[in-house]
Formats: sequence, structure tokens, C-alpha cells
Amino acid sequence: MHDPTIPNVNIGVVGHVDHGKTTLVSQLTGSWTDRHSEELKRGISIRLGYADATFYKCPKCEGADSWSNTDTCPICGEKLEPVRSVSFVDAPGHETLMATMLSGSAIMDGAMLVIAANEPCPQPQTKEHLMALELTGITNIVIVQNKIDVVPQKQAIENYKQIKAFVKGTVAENAPIIPVSAQKKINFGVLIDALNTTIPDRERDADVPPIMLIARSFDVNRPGSSWRDIKGGVIGGSLIRGVFHEGDDIEIRPGRQYMSENKAKWEPITTKITSMNKASHKVPVATPGGLSAIGTKLDPAITKSDTLVGQVAGAAGSLPPVWDKLKFDMTLMDRVVGSASEQNIDPLRLKEPLMLSVGTAVTVGIVMAAKKNQAEVILKRPVCAELGSRIAISRQVGGRWRLIGMGVLTE
Ligand code: GDP
Ligand code: MG
Repeated sequence: MHDPTIPNVNIGVVGHVDHGKTTLVSQLTGSWTDRHSEELKRGISIRLGYADATFYKCPKCEGADSWSNTDTCPICGEKLEPVRSVSFVDAPGHETLMATMLSGSAIMDGAMLVIAANEPCPQPQTKEHLMALELTGITNIVIVQNKIDVVPQKQAIENYKQIKAFVKGTVAENAPIIPVSAQKKINFGVLIDALNTTIPDRERDADVPPIMLIARSFDVNRPGSSWRDIKGGVIGGSLIRGVFHEGDDIEIRPGRQYMSENKAKWEPITTKITSMNKASHKVPVATPGGLSAIGTKLDPAITKSDTLVGQVAGAAGSLPPVWDKLKFDMTLMDRVVGSASEQNIDPLRLKEPLMLSVGTAVTVGIVMAAKKNQAEVILKRPVCAELGSRIAISRQVGGRWRLIGMGVLTE
């Protein structure tokens, strides 16, 4: 049996800036994901945030009211047993941070699309994020209509109709729409019920070589720590398959950059797992889904400040190839979404730079060959990826990277 206090799915939290994503995650989990000083100063999420929640069910209450995120029933006061835990991946909604949202989408099993009821729907990043979910193949979606505490009922219904019209014909057409107030914790039982139904725990094959996509990396030592107390570098991310054990020898690719004859080269990093955490529990085995923090013997200078984001960790010798060129089959969309002017998308041009999101990696590639449904690019920074991986393709439009289509890595 799976331990109900350890998450095994990641739920992305996406949507337009200021619609309440970080507030919602904080109210569901008790932790505020905007921790970075720049985020607190500007009041927006910049990095991928993550936090875990445990859901409880009351045996005495009925229907959606029986669900809660606290161990005491908010309706009848009964002491509750945990049923399930999930990890939330809080994506930034600001239009300039689309690359971060896309890199987060690589580890999402499903998503909450947060839409504020007090603004016309859709706002630009509401559209762009839904498009990103669609292109990256995330189909388990719950729409959260937030801030219902600040609109009269009539306006909430009007907004609901706008949402319905907006999602028609998209992957979210039949997604449940749950009205909530994140700030006042209104209707959380119904929301949790919808999350449980729409984004169930995933069965994963643990008997295969482990692969973890790195979404964060840290130096967990306080400045001025004595060398005796120094802890090794920590990588955070999601196993997409297989399991890690304490003591495992692992490899990280593409690894470390070095210069050889004036050329940048990359060599894999190898290390040993010293400890593992999931949902702030120490675990002897890290399993797929949810977010794991892996302690290593690496010099923390190698892992500090998200340096290893986008890289892949796995059992030594069993990682996918590292590519400095990518060839992919692709589908471009007709129009750019996410900006006020929705221009047509022209075919790829030779030598144009593209931003490519592969797994949690974001890299720039220069187009070397392009046909209608196929392209080849040379990468500025190599990526580690399996054949068949999805590649989100963005291009510069009006000075910003805009999502224009999706590719699949081929040989
Ligand atoms: P994010 O950019 O989507 O992460 O949005 P935040 O969670 O940072 O919230 C943006 C603003 O909306 C903050 O001032 C929140 O306090 C406010 N907010 C979030 N949820 C609600 C809600 O349910 N009701 C009201 N009235 N305000 C909310
Ligand atoms: Mg936020």
C-alpha cells in the first residue's frame, strides 16, 4: 500500500498572473511558495514553487463536505485519517516567465487552471497556459474559478459562462469548474473531491532504470557554516519512472561544462545519494510522482541557485543520450496566443533562434533546416532527452518568447 502521507502525483497550478495561484497553494498546503526575496519584493512568483498537501476524509460527513486538508473535520470536528497526498507545482503566471511554466509542465501529472472571477475570461496567460497544457499533453485538468468572495453571484455566473465558452473545443472542454475563494478557503471540499477524481494517483513501473527530471537545485548550508557541518548539494525534481535508494550511485547529464581547445564541452557528473526527502519526510526509497529532494555528496557550489535545473539524474550508465543538435517532427499553431495582438505564425526561418523546452530543460536552438512539419536545430546548451520526448517550441514575437508549437524528438 502506498503511504497516504507521501505524494505520488504532481498537480501543476497555472493561470494568469494575480489570479491567486500562490494563495491557493498556500491555503491548501500551509506553505507559501514565493520564498525568494525578489518574489516577495515584486509580489509575483518567479521560480517554480512546490508544496505538498495531505487530504483527509471524514467518515461522518457526506459528499464533498467530507474532504478536507486538515486532520480535523471543519464541519463536525471529527479527528481524521489521511487518505492521499499530492505535490503542487506553482508556476509563475507572468508573461515573461513562460519558459519556467513550460519547464514545470514536464513534471505535471495534471493541473489546476486558476481563473479569477473578477476579470473577463480569458486573460492572455489563461489562454497561453491552457495552450501549453494542451501541447504538452496534460489532459487531467480542474478549472478553479477563484475570488468568488469579491464578485456578486450574477457576475460569478457570467464569468462561468465565459469560462465555458473559452474552453469549448480545447482539452479542458469537459474539465470541472469549481468556484472557490482561495483567500477565505471557501468550497475546498468540493475542490479536493474534484482533484481526487480528475487527477488520480498514477500507477508507475518501478522496475526500470530511474530517471529524474531536475526542477530545482540547492545549497542548503547557511552562510558561514563550519566545514564540519557542510551538507552536500541537493537536487529537487520528479522521478518519471524507476526508484532511487539511499546509497545509489547516480549520474547527472549533461553535467558540468568545461572548456577544451576554446570549445565548451560537457561531462556527466557522478555522485552518491546520501539522503532523500519527500513531503518533508525522510524516505529510504524515492518513488515516481510527487517531488523528491535528493541529498548528494556533490560540492554544494555545483547545485546552488538552481544551477542544475533542466538536467536529468539517473542510475549511472543508463541515462538517455545528450544532444547538441535536435531533429524533431513538429506541429505549429496557426496563431500566437498570450499577447494582445494574436498574429499568424509564419513557417520557421533558417538561422532563427528558437526557445525549446525539453523535459525541465530550456535551451536556445538555431534553425539549420526546416520543412513544414520537421526541423533541425543546433543547441547553445545541450540537453539530455529520450527519443520521442516532447519539445515545446517558442519564438521571439514582439520581443518576447511566445509558444508557437510542439515537436517530438526524432533521430
Ligand atoms: P498568483 O500570481 O496567481 O500566484 O496570485 P497570488 O496568489 O499572488 O494572488 C494575487 C492577489 O490576489 C493577492 O493579493 C491575493 O491576496 C489575492 N487573492 C488570491 N486569492 C484570492 C481570493 O480568493 N479572494 C480575494 N479577494 N483575493 C484573493
Ligand atoms: Mg504566484
